Amino acid sequence: MSTLFTYLIIMSMTYQMPNLPYATNALEPVISQQTIELHYGKHLQTYVDNLNKMVPGTEFEGKSVEEIVATAPDGGIFNNAGQVLNHTLYFGQFTPNQIKSEPDGQLAEAIRRDFGSFENFQKEFNEASTSLFGSGWSWLSIDNRGKLHITKEANRSNPVRSGMTPLLGFDVWEHAYYLDYQNRRADHIKELWKIIDWDIVASRMQ
Ligand code: MN
Repeated sequence: MSTLFTYLIIMSMTYQMPNLPYATNALEPVISQQTIELHYGKHLQTYVDNLNKMVPGTEFEGKSVEEIVATAPDGGIFNNAGQVLNHTLYFGQFTPNQIKSEPDGQLAEAIRRDFGSFENFQKEFNEASTSLFGSGWSWLSIDNRGKLHITKEANRSNPVRSGMTPLLGFDVWEHAYYLDYQNRRADHIKELWKIIDWDIVASRMQ
């Protein structure tokens, strides 16, 4: 009983690896098995481990990753929480069996309203992703009035820091594509559209 109780307390304080909802080789050839094994299995695991080491004893103990990213000052806790949140959304938005090459329903309407067309949204998102200098993320997010935004976030940042809800994120750190595409970031970005699960992206609007 006391062992279980201790275990539950530890579990409630511990940041966890998100589930990978497909096999490590399932996204080939868009993302190779080797890249998934390193990116999910090593990079993300390190961010999770670092967060678990850094948070105990600070004001962030017991807070969700989203709360930490929204409020933490620049520094190690923000860096690692940002990367845990970013990669959880990133690995969760892909599917090896894409059914829809673009969104439908409410998300499709919002994209048409705010970007003119899906094609134009994709063009603007590609431009943001390829022009981001150094390491970082491009995000599609929604503000609290329902308007969509494309932002470039440096290093580990996320739109929750600006009070928005992230829907879709492309990781443009070199570790995300260098083994498969070397310096051809634009080619990698173009291929990523083939593995987006638009139903998952749309579900994040709620
Ligand atoms: Mn990454």
